[in-house]
Amino acid sequence: MRNKTKHDISVTKLAKQLMAIDDQLTGCMHCGLCQAVCPVYGVTAKEADVSRGKIVLLENLAYEILKDVDGVGERLDRCLLCGSCQTNCPSGVNTIDIFLHARRLVTEYKGLSKIKKIVFRFILPRPKLMSFFVAFSSRFQRLFMFKANKKMGTFKVPVLQPFVGKRHFPHLENKSFSAKFGNINTSAGSSNIKVAFFPGCVPDKLFVKVSNATMKVFEKHEVGVFMPDNLVCCGIPNLVSGDHVSFKRLVKTNLNLLKQSEFDYLISPCATCASNIKENWLRFKKYFTHDEQQQIDELHAKTMDITEFLTDVLKIDFKLSPQKNGNIRKVTYHDSCHLKKTLGVFAQPRQILKNLSGLEFVEMPEADSCCGSGGSFTLTQHDLANKIGQRKRNNIVSVQPDIVATACPACMLQLMDMLSQNGDNVEVKHVVELYADSL
Ligand code: SF4
Ligand code: SF4
Repeated sequence: MRNKTKHDISVTKLAKQLMAIDDQLTGCMHCGLCQAVCPVYGVTAKEADVSRGKIVLLENLAYEILKDVDGVGERLDRCLLCGSCQTNCPSGVNTIDIFLHARRLVTEYKGLSKIKKIVFRFILPRPKLMSFFVAFSSRFQRLFMFKANKKMGTFKVPVLQPFVGKRHFPHLENKSFSAKFGNINTSAGSSNIKVAFFPGCVPDKLFVKVSNATMKVFEKHEVGVFMPDNLVCCGIPNLVSGDHVSFKRLVKTNLNLLKQSEFDYLISPCATCASNIKENWLRFKKYFTHDEQQQIDELHAKTMDITEFLTDVLKIDFKLSPQKNGNIRKVTYHDSCHLKKTLGVFAQPRQILKNLSGLEFVEMPEADSCCGSGGSFTLTQHDLANKIGQRKRNNIVSVQPDIVATACPACMLQLMDMLSQNGDNVEVKHVVELYADSL
């Protein structure tokens, strides 16, 4: 009798799991309307890169995986999971659901690369190790980070070039937000509202100023804050790489920590974290225990992006923010895909920017087109990410702003990189920073 290999076992699983997306695939009428909105297709003009092309591939997924699993993985990876195709699909095909399930099937069949295994299963579940690494690297950053664009204060990191290309980065903070504050648990003041604060990895470790600004706003409006020590990544990098083993582990850790206190809302200044907690944890909730499923349902109802919280829950009148002396600064706004296309939030950040004193709001062309970030997309598809990002950069500078604001720290990294590489001088800020600056 033939020995069972890893792939024999996975083929059986594969056949069962294919049924999960089969019904959804049949919804696609192959009309091709997704071509007009797909940022990847906009750059490559290749049918294989657009949603319709991927759906055709997935219709024969079992055969394709057996024939060339690496090829299938590569084609699926050429997608930002931006949701533009889903938002504009006349047949209502849930492309994000299809692509996430398909990536899972491919990863389960093919296995995870060594580097991803280390990052997803060893580093991401250890936030203290990540904070230590940030603090350690910040001490020696002068040795390996070199000024790239003096006007924007960005740096290049030649030692990381094999992994991140020639990207420009902000400087490293000497302490992560969570290392500075540890466990936070304050009572609600006059607002009578208590929130769970989920900063997300980037605002916690890199853009600490975004977390500080969010806390300042909570304090100003007397909102009680609960942030348990040791919150881990929301699991989005794991999920988009199809590694459900580590995705589940991270979600379970966070669920355990979040049940230690009552709160009315879960708020994040990271649109990617907020959309992942609200939509993807729910999407895959059947893989969790009964109690965890209940908690996931509650979090789905309570999770909100910070700009939505400020406008729709606290109902702040931003016109009342203190008048600023000095020049009026021109600000434009980039819609993060996760915020606009997944969470439907686009009017709220504009409401804030249009009403803050000292700012003149100007809409850029194609404000809601993807910036090319897409998390690990910038690392695995660097050339594509650069081309998509260059179009975004051109749209930004066409309105000659002093500031480009957004509500997703992953977009902030990409915008900063693209503007810096072009030698521009445009400040990249989170909307909540601009409000906190006004207080
Ligand atoms: S995914 Fe939607 S828009 Fe794209 S080809 Fe299918 S039906 Fe048309
Ligand atoms: S999710 Fe975005 S990048 Fe991926 S196929 Fe759809 S429109 Fe294109």
